[in-house]
Amino acid sequence: MLATRPKSVYSANGDSVLSHAPRVCVTGAGGFIGSHLVTYLKIAGCWVRGVDIKYPEFAASDADEFEILDLRRWESCLQATRDVQDVYALAADMGGMGFISLNDAAILHNNSLIDVHTLEAARANGVTRCLYSSSACVYPEYKQLATNVVPLKEADAYPAQPQSAYGWEKLTGEKLCMYYSKEYGLQTRIVRLHNIFGPLGTWDGGREKAPAALCRKIARAKLTNDPIVEIWGDGEQTRSFCYIDDCTAGLVRLMRSTFSGPVNLGQDRVLTINHLADTIASIAGLKIEKRYVAGPQGVRGRNSDNSLLREVLNWVPEISLEAGLEVTYAWIEGQVRAGLGTGLDDSRASAQPLKW
Ligand code: NAD
Repeated sequence: MLATRPKSVYSANGDSVLSHAPRVCVTGAGGFIGSHLVTYLKIAGCWVRGVDIKYPEFAASDADEFEILDLRRWESCLQATRDVQDVYALAADMGGMGFISLNDAAILHNNSLIDVHTLEAARANGVTRCLYSSSACVYPEYKQLATNVVPLKEADAYPAQPQSAYGWEKLTGEKLCMYYSKEYGLQTRIVRLHNIFGPLGTWDGGREKAPAALCRKIARAKLTNDPIVEIWGDGEQTRSFCYIDDCTAGLVRLMRSTFSGPVNLGQDRVLTINHLADTIASIAGLKIEKRYVAGPQGVRGRNSDNSLLREVLNWVPEISLEAGLEVTYAWIEGQVRAGLGTGLDDSRASAQPLKW
């Protein structure tokens, strides 16, 4: 059984992943990936400042200091990135398909401000390295029309035609990193994350992603003895899913590398949403009845080509979907169980984007 916190920061040959321990700022440290990354970096011996507009929802942060800042504002970004060598830029107004498909204007506005100000503040403060969290959502729709999709290589992003404003914002953020690297000497890293999942992430309220939403629905089915589980679309859309411990390990490895171009970070095992639901149901020990309903599905098929990741890092994600889902389902079932008596319900209003 996997730990919900990183087990080890040591590579297979016994060398420390971090040969020196820099002072680090993690933006988005109140969120899912950011909160896990803070813990990972602390175990690795770094001094860490976490920054977010909110504290982590499910566990106290392990950061040495945690500052509540709105990173859409220039002064906040200057404060966040002072006196550190490395910045992991994870802050973003984001969520699963339900959120991304309804909030294009706010996502483009909020995240563009965060990206532009974070990078410029990092430069102004003399930061050495900045890792930008991009997304598989940058890839063009025309390459993702079939369920048996060809795994996406980094070069496939152009000619560009991302499905949503979220994808356009990430492509622009990537370009900004490349220009800052070329013209200002800021060492930038760009990671294109593919569906990261795990415990301590949003599991309801409208921003949750497919693995967390399905864990919640199946836990509720189990705890209420009602086997019906709703699936958006026909459930035949395909994706790959990567466990959070592999994600944090990959982020730190990429920061340490000297590679500045975009790199995929995800699993390359593709499966349907139906298959994902069946796997979770089997972990829950439940026979479910799927009910197919209208809902945003994103692209028809998407998978990660990990050739470049392997070449650059000499490493790829290694935790199986089943092992990761065991930990994630157990945690979400506990959350649902705790919320059942308080009237928490799947049909709560959708999440709203960040307002001024
Ligand atoms: P998350 O929503 O859990 O974390 C993002 C954090 O950013 C949140 O805590 C949020 O409060 C914070 N934030 C938003 N606006 C802010 C602002 N104005 N000022 C300060 N903080 C602000 O999301 P996550 O899953 O942890 O994702 C982290 C990063 O990785 C994001 O940039 C996201 O786009 C990217 N990414 C994630 C996935 C995934 O599968 N989780 C996939 C692709 C890309």
